[in-house]
Formats: sequence, structure tokens, C-alpha cells
Amino acid sequence: MPDLHVDNVSFIYAGASRAVLRSVQLTIPAGEFVLLAGPSGCGKSTLALALAGLIPSRIAGTFEGHVYLGSQEIGTMEVHEAAQHIGIVFQNPDEQLVHLDVESEVAFGPENLALPHSEVEQRVATSLAYTRMEYARKLEIFALSGGQKQRVAIAATLAMQSRVLVLDEPTSDLDPVGTQEVLSVLHTLNKQYGWTIVLVEHKIDEVVPWVDRVLLMDAGHIIVDAPPRNAFRDLTAWQRLEVSVPQM
Ligand code: ADP
Ligand code: MG
Repeated sequence: MPDLHVDNVSFIYAGASRAVLRSVQLTIPAGEFVLLAGPSGCGKSTLALALAGLIPSRIAGTFEGHVYLGSQEIGTMEVHEAAQHIGIVFQNPDEQLVHLDVESEVAFGPENLALPHSEVEQRVATSLAYTRMEYARKLEIFALSGGQKQRVAIAATLAMQSRVLVLDEPTSDLDPVGTQEVLSVLHTLNKQYGWTIVLVEHKIDEVVPWVDRVLLMDAGHIIVDAPPRNAFRDLTAWQRLEVSVPQM
């Protein structure tokens, strides 16, 4: 599995005057579970979009630098090609779920790759198993809870078998039970199946025990990049940005 490498990435949204990402330099080794934290507006979602190869292809603006997965440049790929290398899950699953039932939602991506039916079937089964949603296979999406919907969104992404997953505040709209369901699926994906995970999350307390590394962003820069045991030793930056930190 290849490492993810962000090489000197800067980005200005079309029509804006200030850069939202400023010379971001970051390497995420395969299999790492990374938390990306920071105050509202610091550029987390924009970085997530860049990691997933949606900038500059889908978002207008001035982009500099490169995002590589191994030797392949994500940012220059077609969106459907990038999706085979790196998956993205957003805050609101309703924006991502477009099908009537769980099974067709998860099958959609691999079907579009024109894979043999048996391969699609295998991917659906595996993705539902990883997200502990097998029992919901035949259920209609509207009948699911927020946590279940978010797990279906994750399953649909998993079915692309990218093995690298970026999630942008996937638990924001979830209650504590739904949050735990989603975080525990991510933990399993990472520890048991070796997926690389970049998680944008403000429920830092709940995530920190499971991550290998903590990133703190401020105004388009990564200003803290450390394993959890070191990331909160000096709280100056966290306090200045008013980002709540766990009791270590
Ligand atoms: P975060 O996810 O950390 O809250 P974002 O990446 O969403 O931050 O946004 C960073 C900055 O870019 C903010 O100032 C935001 O207003 C601005 N921004 C986000 N999306 C757009 C857009 N589509 N066009 C112009 N500016 C944007
Ligand atoms: Mg955001």
C-alpha cells in the first residue's frame, strides 16, 4: 500500500484573495490513522478535498503543489479514477446517499467500474461486513438512523477498495451512540484491515485513543504534527485556537 504525500500544497478559492491552504507539507504512511483538528475556517475541509483529489479538478481556484499516493498524482486524475485510490466521506451522509436501499447504494460504485457481477457482490458483502451493516442490506435508506446512514456512506466508499479513507467530520450530525458506531468502524478498518484513515473531527477526546498521529491546523498551516502523547504536551497553540483538548 502506498504512502500519501502532500507536497507544498497551496490553494486560493476562485474569487477569494487569501490562501486557504498555505504550503502544506505532509506525509502519511500507509496504515496510519491520523486526526486532523483545528478551529472552524482553518482549512480542514479544503485539505480533505485536496487529499481526495477533488482539488483542482472539481473546485475552482488557484492550486499549487502536488498530492501523491505512492508515485501517482491524485490531483490530476479523473474523479472516478481518484475514487479508486482514495475515498472521501462527508459530514452529512444524505448528500452522498442517492439510492433507495443499502445494497444498491453500496453496489453502485463497483458497478460503475464495470466489474463482473461476482466481484461486485463480493465487494458489497465485504463492505457491509466491515461496517457491521449486513443486517441492513435490504433496508431502505430513509428508514436508517444517522449513524447507520453514515456507516452505509462509509461502506459505499469501501466498496471502491481504495484502502485510503478521508472523512470530514462524519460524526457531527450524530448522537453519542451513532458517533461511537462510526468511530469503532474506523478503528476496526484501520487496525484489523490496515486502511489509512485521515479523520477531520472535533470530538478529539473520543478519537485520540485510537489515532497514531494528531495534526492541528491554523490558517492553512499545519502547526502541530505529533503522536497523541506529545501533541498535547504544550497546550499554547490549542488554547490560542480555542480547540478543546482531551485530559491526558
Ligand atoms: P474548515 O473545514 O477548517 O472549517 P474550510 O476548508 O471549509 O475550513 O474553509 C477554509 C476557508 O475557506 C474559510 O475561510 C472558508 O470560508 C473558505 N471557503 C471554504 N469553501 C469556500 C468556497 N467554496 N469558496 C470560497 N471560500 C471558501
Ligand atoms: Mg470543515
